Amino acid sequence: MTERLELNGKTAKEARDAFKGRLKLDKRNRPKAERGFWQRNDRLAIGALELQIPKNIEVDIEQDGRCCFAKTRCPVCGYPIKQKGTRYCAACGQSIRWPE
Ligand SMILES: [Zn+2]
Repeated sequence: MTERLELNGKTAKEARDAFKGRLKLDKRNRPKAERGFWQRNDRLAIGALELQIPKNIEVDIEQDGRCCFAKTRCPVCGYPIKQKGTRYCAACGQSIRWPE
């Protein structure tokens, strides 16, 4: 499955890694007084990009008398996701990957 979001030719994963790299460089290169501002912005961007990188749906198999059934939920926040193929968690916005 390819990621749907493209940012200046980068996938969400590549863009997140670029921000992570900059965060590391800033620790060394930026004056201390400026670091807090840039680090907060970079962490915000990293968090937003993480939501765009699909994570596998969580599946719990539950027993109900003689039969069993699958319950699906968000891998990040645990919010129940009942509709197969739902692309984003309604609670936290995480991008969801379903098995083929
Ligand atoms: Zn969620």
